[in-house]
Amino acid sequence: PVRVRFAPSPTGPLHIGGVRTALFNYLFAKKHGGTFYLRIEDTDQNRYVEGAEEYIIEALNWCGIPFDEGVGKNEKFGPYRQSERKEIYVEYAQQLINNGWAYYAFDTAEALDELRKTEEAAGKTFIYNHANRGTLDNSLNISADEAAKRIAGGEDYVIRFKTPVDETLHLKDIIRGDIKFETNLLDDKVLFKSDGMPTYHLANIVDDHLMETSHVIRGEEWLPSMPLHVLLYRAFEWEAPEFAHLPLILKPVGNGKLSKRDGDKLGFPVFPLQWTNPDGTVSAGYREKGFLPEAVVNFLALLGWNPGTDQELFTLEELVLLFDLERVHKAGAKFDPEKNKWFNHQYFGRQDNALLARELSHILISKGINWPIEDVAEVVRLVKERATFASELWDLSDYFFVAPAEYDEKALKNWKPETNEILKELAVVLENTLDFSPAHTETVVKAWIEEKGIGMGKVMQPLRISLVGSLKGPHLFDIMALIGKEETVSRINKAAD
Ligand code: GLU
Repeated sequence: PVRVRFAPSPTGPLHIGGVRTALFNYLFAKKHGGTFYLRIEDTDQNRYVEGAEEYIIEALNWCGIPFDEGVGKNEKFGPYRQSERKEIYVEYAQQLINNGWAYYAFDTAEALDELRKTEEAAGKTFIYNHANRGTLDNSLNISADEAAKRIAGGEDYVIRFKTPVDETLHLKDIIRGDIKFETNLLDDKVLFKSDGMPTYHLANIVDDHLMETSHVIRGEEWLPSMPLHVLLYRAFEWEAPEFAHLPLILKPVGNGKLSKRDGDKLGFPVFPLQWTNPDGTVSAGYREKGFLPEAVVNFLALLGWNPGTDQELFTLEELVLLFDLERVHKAGAKFDPEKNKWFNHQYFGRQDNALLARELSHILISKGINWPIEDVAEVVRLVKERATFASELWDLSDYFFVAPAEYDEKALKNWKPETNEILKELAVVLENTLDFSPAHTETVVKAWIEEKGIGMGKVMQPLRISLVGSLKGPHLFDIMALIGKEETVSRINKAAD
């Protein structure tokens, strides 16, 4: 069965690259009727950030891609927080020592630094591996008894992986195809530290195995770790999952990787939810900026994947049906803020009028405007196709609620010497119109224009300016019906004065 995981380290807010990784895992799981689980990789205590775990969970839920298993939910392979699984890793680190795949090393940070400097001065790159492990301070160099004594004596140590020598690894990545790695270029990575904590590599492999992960779908930045991971599976004699490394998300300009700091620079969110930084500044979030989760998900799905057609708008259900790791690109995907907004615009207009009316009502109430909610919903229906965010609704509709205080100068160019007279006459006609429905006022006004023998534009443009203040806005007769006869007549008379 397909079991995939999203395995973030709680070091801060999730940025959209992380959300995209979670989304692709989610889509893959759902497509195959599998399980999408969340594992919190918090073994690096120094990088642990308070609130990050809650943020991650809230963000996944907001996006509409909740996990099936994870912290606090269907914990059948739990605990899902690595800091709560310490004893498990001790046991597996020991197993690698016992079967000769790992060894204790006592080198101090200073000694390693010294060695690095000497080697670099000689024009070499320092790698802790087969080339020098026999000369360094580790248990491959001293007796097992002595190593045990030093550990018992409280000396600091690490456990390192004993990378095999002279081997070409042939790895397979679903997205990248076949990849070759020379083991001689790998270092003997630290798997475990004397603080009792495993490193990412050990914990990740042990958990992916114990939690029965079928596919590892993660960002390209983890590709260099893949040979070590595959070797660890071999060392444990476990079957490795399949791997798929997702392309990077690139900055809108240039070729660099989009970073967490880019959001503030671009003035555009790169986080799903807003986040308060340690220095008190707040990084913007999609949710707070008024983005819709459906739009964010749709946008992210196309960062590095496409279905092979021109279609751009997809519901989550459609994405689940169409998603395919084989169609994920190798090349980095450029993050385009304008495209992101375009998606929001598409989804914004599909929202229920009554729901948006409630949002607009909050603004109206704060301005002391009291309109029946059904009428506000009608206003929303008329203007929403022009909006990308709910916050724009007021600017797009203010003239419904307040008479224009001034008239757009450019629009006033249409004001002719005879315009005032025409408008005053029209006001009388409307005053005497009983049925103020759009269809009826339209018939009345157009018949009157015809009868008078004046051009349509000579009436309709000044009429729009009187009611709206400019030449923008939806169908005039819809506006008239909503603001009502009294207000319509009063606005026309005021403009004609
Ligand atoms: N904890 C790693 C991260 O923060 C997980 C990488 C992986 O998926 O293996 O992204």
